[in-house]
Amino acid sequence: MCKLGLFIPVQRRFINPVPVSTTDRTDSLHSSFVPELVYFEPSALDYPKGKRIMEWVAAAGIPYRMTNSHNRITNLPGESELEQYKIAKRTLVVGIRKTLKFDQSKPSAEYAIPIATGCMGHCHYCYLQTTLGSKPYIRVYVNMDEIMQAAKGYIDERAPQNTRFEAACTSDPVGLEPITGSLRELIEFMADEEYGRLRFVTKFHYVDSLLDARHNGHTRVRFSVNSKYVIKHFEPATSRFEQRIEAAGKIARAGYPLGFIIAPIIWYEGWQEGYAELLSSLAAALPKDASAGLTFEMIQHRFTKTAKNVIERRYPKTKLEMDIDKRKYKWGRWGQGKYVYPDEQANALRMFISERIFEHFPDATIDYFT
Ligand code: SF4
Repeated sequence: MCKLGLFIPVQRRFINPVPVSTTDRTDSLHSSFVPELVYFEPSALDYPKGKRIMEWVAAAGIPYRMTNSHNRITNLPGESELEQYKIAKRTLVVGIRKTLKFDQSKPSAEYAIPIATGCMGHCHYCYLQTTLGSKPYIRVYVNMDEIMQAAKGYIDERAPQNTRFEAACTSDPVGLEPITGSLRELIEFMADEEYGRLRFVTKFHYVDSLLDARHNGHTRVRFSVNSKYVIKHFEPATSRFEQRIEAAGKIARAGYPLGFIIAPIIWYEGWQEGYAELLSSLAAALPKDASAGLTFEMIQHRFTKTAKNVIERRYPKTKLEMDIDKRKYKWGRWGQGKYVYPDEQANALRMFISERIFEHFPDATIDYFT
């Protein structure tokens, strides 16, 4: 499909030669993500997407290496663990997705659809810190036809009920879209599936290549938003709030169902003013026609003991509060529980933010608070 070629930023002049530090924020002066190092599985080059990415990498002069498995990248440059981590976040691995059994993705969808793993963002609280463990590099998969075939199997199994697929469980796919074009493929695949629905969430604004995709209303695009305090202190190397909202307006005007995820909701000195301001600026910035059918999802901040250790090593100066004495322990399904806010605080956050949502968006739906 030659139109995918449009997604590949082949023009060298768009490449930002200055590595983005972990404190930088992507802004309009920066182009979309450009890796500093790329690995290819040899068989990925048998696929058109793998070939196109290789052509782009070669034209852009980005160093690349070959690897036998996208799961075993062991020779990353960097002197210390921290340095290797930062380099890994700028390293792209192009491979084949072999596991086509999808994980569940409650509460936002039935299944997670795997098109990428890892992210170039540096959000301190991100659960990928622990779930990706020693593999924080960014993997993209080129065998989209096989992935979509597997999705079709899940859809047929549940028909005539709708089956929802979440494409952002292990990555931020919009951040990678200019390189892969995979979201557009998924959107157009799902448009033709009577009982298939796609959803994804992003902190990036690279949506232009999705605006004329044939979506048939089957894809819901959500933007992750937060108070100025949270974005400033905990979300380096992501798009600014204003860029996310501008992208949300474009998505709404392109006829996609639109939503916002407020996550993680954080209790800090001044949180009421912060979240009240978030909702009022959202209402002020969003075009009027964007409010129809709007959904909100709310997720309070949580962490595991393992995450706390990893985060403190990787972002030693973080202001993220992770004091287990101030939290409530919530048992998890797979053994390891999480620390969330005590009920009184969680209820205060939920009620206050819900009221602000309905004050500004009376017709919106709140899908869940967790
Ligand atoms: S943008 Fe999303 S996936 Fe990427 S680091 Fe931030 S929270 Fe994690």
